[in-house]
Amino acid sequence: MFRISSLVLALCIASGMTANAQQDQPKVVKINDSIYMAPFGANVYLVTTPAGNVVIDTGISSEAANARELLRAESHGPVKYIILTHGHVDHIGGIGLWKEAGTEIIAQRNYVELVNYVVRLEGFFAPRNAAAFNRPPKEVGPWAGNFGAKIDPTVVFDEKHEFSLGGVQFELLSTPGETPDHLTVWIPAYKTAFIGDNYNGFGEPEPMSFPNLFALRGTKPRWALDWISSIDKVLALKPEIVLSGHGDPIIGNAEITRRLTRFRNAIQYVHDEVVKGMNSGKDVFTLMREIKLPAGSDLSESFGKISWSVRGIYDGYAGWFDMNPSTMYDLPPSAVYPDLVKLAGGPEPVVRLALDKLEAGKPVEALHLTDAVLAFDPNNSPALGARLKALEYLRGHTENYIEAGYLEYGITQTKAKLASK
Ligand SMILES: [Zn+2]
Repeated sequence: MFRISSLVLALCIASGMTANAQQDQPKVVKINDSIYMAPFGANVYLVTTPAGNVVIDTGISSEAANARELLRAESHGPVKYIILTHGHVDHIGGIGLWKEAGTEIIAQRNYVELVNYVVRLEGFFAPRNAAAFNRPPKEVGPWAGNFGAKIDPTVVFDEKHEFSLGGVQFELLSTPGETPDHLTVWIPAYKTAFIGDNYNGFGEPEPMSFPNLFALRGTKPRWALDWISSIDKVLALKPEIVLSGHGDPIIGNAEITRRLTRFRNAIQYVHDEVVKGMNSGKDVFTLMREIKLPAGSDLSESFGKISWSVRGIYDGYAGWFDMNPSTMYDLPPSAVYPDLVKLAGGPEPVVRLALDKLEAGKPVEALHLTDAVLAFDPNNSPALGARLKALEYLRGHTENYIEAGYLEYGITQTKAKLASK
């Protein structure tokens, strides 16, 4: 049931972009007699009760109307509540479609800061989100300023919020993870937990990827320890059904326990290794290279990459300063690249070295060397050619969709520069 478009959408969070056209029209999935799932790029759920319905997440705007149509075919009952598992755009795009007079919209309190943060930095995020998909950036309006976001929720809560509708009890728990406002909806009567994006059901051979503890497009730290305790909170409920923001339902407590435990243990392992390394004086780049999940507990890195997460945890705890006095100042090492290239005798030997590095299977070193030459001469054709080769090499060797996107963006930019000469 998992489609590539689902993954693309998953990567779209906070981008405001739409995914490629759907390959096939999704069909509604009946979870039980009361719960229905519209399995779009971002899943939309409808819980029916004798006193009206509850919508859990509303999808990305480009798909929200289709998802609503599918679910409305199952029940036309009044929408009494909309619950948002978190404030990423792929989950809040259909609020306006579902909202009726008197509908309560519920989110965890940190939702307010999350959506404001996205609006506050819209001009910063737009090109980064577009580059992740090798697309031109969308038009952004004037900077919205602080607290410029539309706040849809009518109810926000801190730790726990409960209500009952038509005899069905709903418990909403704060479960920070992929975002600080993540919540889990627990329906005890159905032993069902809706956990949003706190589980990443992508990858092969098992639908489970290491999470994005750091998102390349830019994110505040996503606290590993919060994420772990949130998963523990879900496991303690002993659910029989887990429904997430993307991907298929997980059915049966044994399978849920196995998958979520494996997922949380991977986060815990990486977190603990970073902390151990930091305390023993290792720098962030060493840890990015060294930390791997133990054999037998490894996960796909198709969505989140361990090395980026290592750096996210390290920087989240300690910030950017690496104790090298040179780093305290406002000139990066690249400020002296042109001088070094000049000392080397100009671009030609440096490009040759870059190609040698590439030949030796060291594409990142090759990229750095082309950075140096292009700082000396931004239009140097041999350096652009070597750069293109290094980017294409890396693109051919990654399973990570986000890395692939930024590499393709780099390839497009480099080719455009070569063509303009
Ligand atoms: Zn999502």
